[in-house]
Amino acid sequence: MMPKPILFIDLDRTMFDTERLYEFWGIEATKRLPYMEATMAGKIPEPNWAESVFLDVKPFLERAQERCLLVLLTRTADVDFQKRKLERSGLGNFFSGALYTTAMHAKGELVHDFLTKRGKDAVAVFYVDDEPMNIHDVKSENPQVFAMLMRRPDGLERVHDGYLPPDAIVEDFADVAHHMKLYV
Ligand SMILES: [Mg+2]
Repeated sequence: MMPKPILFIDLDRTMFDTERLYEFWGIEATKRLPYMEATMAGKIPEPNWAESVFLDVKPFLERAQERCLLVLLTRTADVDFQKRKLERSGLGNFFSGALYTTAMHAKGELVHDFLTKRGKDAVAVFYVDDEPMNIHDVKSENPQVFAMLMRRPDGLERVHDGYLPPDAIVEDFADVAHHMKLYV
């Protein structure tokens, strides 16, 4: 098998418009935990997951999955909820691997472990996430990774100071494809 590039992709606010979910529930993000539980227990209506995927995501994944190893890399308070979000939003089938963590600052180590086990032949490694802190964590443990900070036009303001900078700032997956042009 030809060695492939690897692309790690964050879920919330990178592929999935998480603010829409909070609007659907009518809450602030800080109040989300009981709503996540109630959704999993079937006590409140299920959101329309697929509607909350940013429109540029699927066309990109369709192209990218042919040529890259796609790996989900996500932090969540509830792994089962996050798995449901991934599957019911129609994104699950694009990914060859999915790495979930409930811990802050774990993404760098998850990438490192994955690359040690499955990434020896990768011709290049890319990563996209909307949080500067995660970019920092991944870059500090894996300096070879080309890390892209996703800044959605109406995304959250993220403080950048004191973190290792991304290799590029992108606004959508067309920008990601541009930076990966040899591979997507
Ligand atoms: Mg995110």
